[in-house]
Amino acid sequence: MGSYYNDDTVLWLNGTFVKAKEATMDLYSQSFHYGYAVFEGIRSYKTHLGETRIFKAVEHYDRLQRSALDMNMPYTWNTSELISITCELLQKNGLQDAYIRPVVYAPANMKFDQNERSFLVIEVWKMEPFLGEQLVRVMTSSFQRPNPKGFKITAKASGHYVNSILASQEAKAKGYDEALLLDMNNHVAEAPGANVFFEKDGRLFTPAAGNILPGITRATVIELCQEMGVPVIEKFFTIEELKNADTAFFCGTAAEIVGIESLDDEKFPMPWNQSVSRQIQEAYKHLVTEKEFKSSLALA
Ligand code: PMP
Repeated sequence: MGSYYNDDTVLWLNGTFVKAKEATMDLYSQSFHYGYAVFEGIRSYKTHLGETRIFKAVEHYDRLQRSALDMNMPYTWNTSELISITCELLQKNGLQDAYIRPVVYAPANMKFDQNERSFLVIEVWKMEPFLGEQLVRVMTSSFQRPNPKGFKITAKASGHYVNSILASQEAKAKGYDEALLLDMNNHVAEAPGANVFFEKDGRLFTPAAGNILPGITRATVIELCQEMGVPVIEKFFTIEELKNADTAFFCGTAAEIVGIESLDDEKFPMPWNQSVSRQIQEAYKHLVTEKEFKSSLALA
C-alpha cells in the first residue's frame, strides 16, 4: 500500500486548503454508495531545468469537466482556476514529481435523482520519476470492459473502476502483473487503467475509439508517432492479431509507457530495446520533463 498522506499533507476541499487528516466527507454521499463520482489522474514532473510542470493540465481538467457533465453532475469550476489551485497545492506540499487526483462528488442523496450541487477535492502525493525499461507480464482478462450501451465509458467515472479492480485483482491472483480486457465484441480494448498499442513491422496499432477511454497519453503517443514519422493505425483488432505483434505496450498517465513482455505467457519476439516502441517511450520521457529528444529512427 502506498502512503498517500501524513500529518502535514494538505489537500484542497471545496474552496479551502485543509490538512488531509482533518478533512471529512459526508458518508451519506451518493458517490460513496453508488460509485457516482468523476475523477482525474494527472502528473506533475520536475523538468530538466528544475521547474514543476503539470503534464497536459488543460486536457485533464477539461476531461474532468466533460466527465462531470456526461454524468449530469453540476460543475462550477473552470480549468484555469483549477490549474492554479493545483500549482499552489503542489507548492504547499513541497512536491514536484507528483500524482494529482481531483474527485468531483455528490452530496448526501440515497435516491438516484440529479443533485443541485457537486463537491470537489484535489489530493496530491509523491510519485517516483519514470520507472524505465521494466516489462510487464499480462493476461487476457475473463472480464470484459463495460459496454458503452450500459455506461458512458468516455467519462472517467468512479463506478467504472469496479471493473478495473476486478480485472487487475484477477490477473495478480494468477501471478501476472496486469490484465488486458476485451470489449463486448471480443476486440482488444484496454488495460484496467491504461491504453494498449502494438508494434508490427515498424508500425504502431491501437484500438479505435468507441469502446475505450481514449487516454491523453494515447493521444500523446499518436502525436509523437506523427512527429517521428512512425505510421500509427487506429482500428479494432482481436487478441490473435495482438499476439502476432513484434512487441506491445501499455500507456497512461500513471503507467507512462510500459513495455509488455508476454501475453498469456507467450513472449513477444522483438527485444524491447530494438523496437520503435522503445523510441516512443524515450521520446515520452523527454517530453514530460521538457527535455529535447533526438530520435535515432532512420525515418525521422
Ligand atoms: N484507460 C483507462 C481505463 C484508464 O483508467 C486510463 C487512465 N486514466 C487510461 C486508459 C489512460 O488514460 P490517460 O492517458 O488519460 O491517463
